[in-house]
Amino acid sequence: MELTRDNYYSLEADREYMSCSQYQGFLECEAKQLAKLQGRWADEPSEAFVAGNYFHTYFEGPEAHKQFVDDNADSIFLKQTKAEAEQGIRRKRAPFEQADKMIQTAENDELIKSLIAMPGENEKIMTGKLFGVPWRIRLDKYIPDGRMIIDWKTCASITELRWSDELHQKVTFIDAYGYMMRAAVYSEIEKQFASAAADPHFIIVAISKQEFPDKEVIFLNHRQRYDYELSKIKERLQHIQFVRAGITTPKRCGVCDYCRATKKLWAIKPYYALMPEFREAREDDYQSGEVLADTPEKRSMALLSPVRAASDLG
Ligand SMILES: [Zn+2]
Repeated sequence: MELTRDNYYSLEADREYMSCSQYQGFLECEAKQLAKLQGRWADEPSEAFVAGNYFHTYFEGPEAHKQFVDDNADSIFLKQTKAEAEQGIRRKRAPFEQADKMIQTAENDELIKSLIAMPGENEKIMTGKLFGVPWRIRLDKYIPDGRMIIDWKTCASITELRWSDELHQKVTFIDAYGYMMRAAVYSEIEKQFASAAADPHFIIVAISKQEFPDKEVIFLNHRQRYDYELSKIKERLQHIQFVRAGITTPKRCGVCDYCRATKKLWAIKPYYALMPEFREAREDDYQSGEVLADTPEKRSMALLSPVRAASDLG
């Protein structure tokens, strides 16, 4: 299939190509990601998501931004009062006012402005293969001359640290959102696209969603770290492909919106089982395959056994 701007985010594109988002989706919750691929589940676009796109289209150029504002006017603008309508005033909803502030922050910085002004291709789509699997990437800005990739990112804070279960330490937003994995994948696919051996320059322009937005231009190139990220992908990809093909039953994460919406109770739990260290191993999704105890009778039988077990505690 020929990928275009219009079909890039379609289900068909997701079924044919792996992407960084889909890969991250499988790591978070296999059951939810498969349900999305099978068309059984779709994420509702949140206001934050629309505001993020509003921010992104600004850097694509005035035409793309105007088109986006026209297409999403109901989400962006508040209802006009009679007085406002008479004076021709249209106020934006808070997340879009905030996005305007962030755009202004970028525009007011000389270094960022020089990156905006650099001639290049916006929303550049590339495809390639990683470990035998077709992948697709979409670069916010690609500068072929000098091979530079620029990604515009919004984040809650550039400096605040967040706990990472994978790395067992507090990390910056770069690691919290898997941007090093993304940079590693983008660089591999770009190298195939450009028939080059050296890594392209990978730059993130980050603007924070704070009242006084923070800003930073960050260079992600780091070959050893890319190798680590790619080895992780290689390690996990075969299992993901088996889940995608319906050969392996997907695991439920147990905590996401999909898992909550499709949750069935099989047993009464002791109170301490709510603590993460007592949480049971991820269970097989019962939506995609056969449901084990699918009748009320079987489920009430399942309910009884743990009560006996709890009484054993004395
Ligand atoms: Zn889940």
